Amino acid sequence: MVKSRRDRKRTPKIEAVRVSFPEEHGLPWLTMLLDAYYLADRGIALEISKRLRSGQHLACKKGCSSCCITHTTIPVYPLEVVGIYWFVIEKLSGPEREKIKRQLSAYKAGKGCPFLTDGACGIHPVRPLACRHFNVFNKPCSPGEDPFFTRRQDVLTPNERYKERALAAMLPFHGIKKPSEKRRLAKAGALNSMVKNLQEIDWLNLARRMDGEIMPKTKT
Ligand code: SF4
Ligand code: SF4
Repeated sequence: MVKSRRDRKRTPKIEAVRVSFPEEHGLPWLTMLLDAYYLADRGIALEISKRLRSGQHLACKKGCSSCCITHTTIPVYPLEVVGIYWFVIEKLSGPEREKIKRQLSAYKAGKGCPFLTDGACGIHPVRPLACRHFNVFNKPCSPGEDPFFTRRQDVLTPNERYKERALAAMLPFHGIKKPSEKRRLAKAGALNSMVKNLQEIDWLNLARRMDGEIMPKTKT
């Protein structure tokens, strides 16, 4: 159903918010990562807003999480893995930390995501680009359903321009700092060969590092 002009005016505006942490000052790679996520989130907000204005509604919400179990090939870039390590080691606390540590220790490759706790993402501020980009409209996924295959029209198509800008923002982590080079390489998919599958990473290593090892600072 296409919305009337009056209804469109009432549609809430979706805005991306840049996450920040005080530690960014001493961790340039973290600024890079959070800038990249902010760029991606801006593109996502733009595309979601377009869909909302056309009368669709976003099915994704906190507590709806079967996608985190169904999807077993979630791509993650090297800087994203560093971000997840940092967040889990430095920022998780209390029972949530213990629960994620147990899940990481017991994790078997190819299973659902080990960061899902009580129906919510335990690493939400640093969840990967792939998770950010996966948004579904009109009705929640059924258990085991991947709507990319069952109802592609309900799955958000990422905004390519912002996606490329997000990838370009990660490139200084790999020594590429010149703006024109970053743009060119991001467009050419230079990071694709470095992508890992989140469900095949050895998360036991992270569980062990949660027990007191200090995260080394990454040089840029
Ligand atoms: S992708 Fe599907 S399961 Fe995941 S939050 Fe959105 S509607 Fe829910
Ligand atoms: S990282 Fe978070 S959003 Fe992504 S699959 Fe895991 S729990 Fe779900």
